Amino acid sequence: MNFTDLNLPSEILQALKEQGYETPTPIQEKAIPPALQGRDVLGCAQTGTGKTCAFAVPILIRLDREHRENHPIRALVLTPTRELAIQNQDCFVAYGAHLPLRSTVIFGGVGQGPQVEALEKGTDILVATPGRLADLYQQGYIDLSALEIFVLDEADRMLDMGFIHDVKKILKWLPEKKQTLFFSATMPKEVRSLVDGLLHDPVRIAVDPVNSTVDAIDQTLYRTDKSKKIRLLTWLLEQRDYPSVLVFTRTKHGANRVARDLERAGISAAAIHGNKSQTARQAALADFKAGRLRVLVATDIAARGLDIEALSCVVNYNLPDVPETYVHRIGRTGRAGLDGVAISFCDVSELEELAAIEKQLGRPIPEVSQHPYPMEEMEAPVTDKKGRRINPEDAEAREAAREQSKKRRESREKAPAAPAQAAQAKAE
Ligand code: AMP
Repeated sequence: MNFTDLNLPSEILQALKEQGYETPTPIQEKAIPPALQGRDVLGCAQTGTGKTCAFAVPILIRLDREHRENHPIRALVLTPTRELAIQNQDCFVAYGAHLPLRSTVIFGGVGQGPQVEALEKGTDILVATPGRLADLYQQGYIDLSALEIFVLDEADRMLDMGFIHDVKKILKWLPEKKQTLFFSATMPKEVRSLVDGLLHDPVRIAVDPVNSTVDAIDQTLYRTDKSKKIRLLTWLLEQRDYPSVLVFTRTKHGANRVARDLERAGISAAAIHGNKSQTARQAALADFKAGRLRVLVATDIAARGLDIEALSCVVNYNLPDVPETYVHRIGRTGRAGLDGVAISFCDVSELEELAAIEKQLGRPIPEVSQHPYPMEEMEAPVTDKKGRRINPEDAEAREAAREQSKKRRESREKAPAAPAQAAQAKAE
């Protein structure tokens, strides 16, 4: 199938051509025709499938059929993260390049002034994260009474990230009569109940999740020790010429440390996570996309919705706790027909996670056993509640010391009674 088979107007075809798109992806092929007819759509699809174009194109076409001089908000796209919001907005700008429609994006973490100014000028399409939308609506800057089309993007992540309350609040502000396009990678119970309340006789579309493309990704496993991971990563990046590498760490601290150590080793890297300012995150992402930065180090939350084309390699510096996350992470490479490479490190404390991932994949991850930093620690280190390593001997010594001081305290507490009794006995 070709985009021309979808009967799209020439302005859209031209814009898609400029983006280098030749054929529609499965979700676009299935969702664009019913969405153009005004049907509600329930799309079970994740980032990477081309879902943004699948909803943005019908929105642009439908809104373009009738022009409104004062540009009231006629389409609203709710999306869980700022990065995803910005990327959605970029798509509306790109696909709508030859149409006279306006789109605006609003998200938290930055001053509201410029966003309010943009809203006051009028916008046909508003892309928003829930918190900022609710905030500006309650301040009276947003009028949703002319809304015709509503998109809920990545509904399951909205739940994961705790936005469900905001989303439900926002739903009450939308006109009853509207077209709804609903996308979620997974359909947990809470998402299904949202669907039931929101969609009317929807066209249900499920496209292959990233799982099915996982086979096309060159996956390898390196068993190593926690303390050697940074050297292993540096060594690998020096050996191979992957131009754009996304490294996943478990924690924000870990992300900072890895980025810092890579930089020290002369490999350009930046960490991207929620503690960084929005400007810093956007700058790092822009540098990475432009090829000025070779490595981006991220936590799962920060990496959500990052639309990075042409990612050559994903590194699991830490294995994720949830096996599906492994599949999501590595699905970021090998997109759009590119060959993907996924490298995973596993230390002795991550063997359980590895087993769960391999069970999910249905086969073991091919292992590279010949490398300079092999696993030597064969017992998982003892850690405290915060995950800090404890030397078992130190722990025993501390326990013994605690016991001793407890005994001393107890005997001290008993001790004062003796002289008092003695004194009383003497008095008698
Ligand atoms: P999405 O799932 O919307 O985040 O899209 C994933 C990536 O695929 C984005 O980088 C899009 O620019 C790209 N893309 C979307 N549709 C097509 C298409 N029909 N042909 C080639 N690339 C596409």
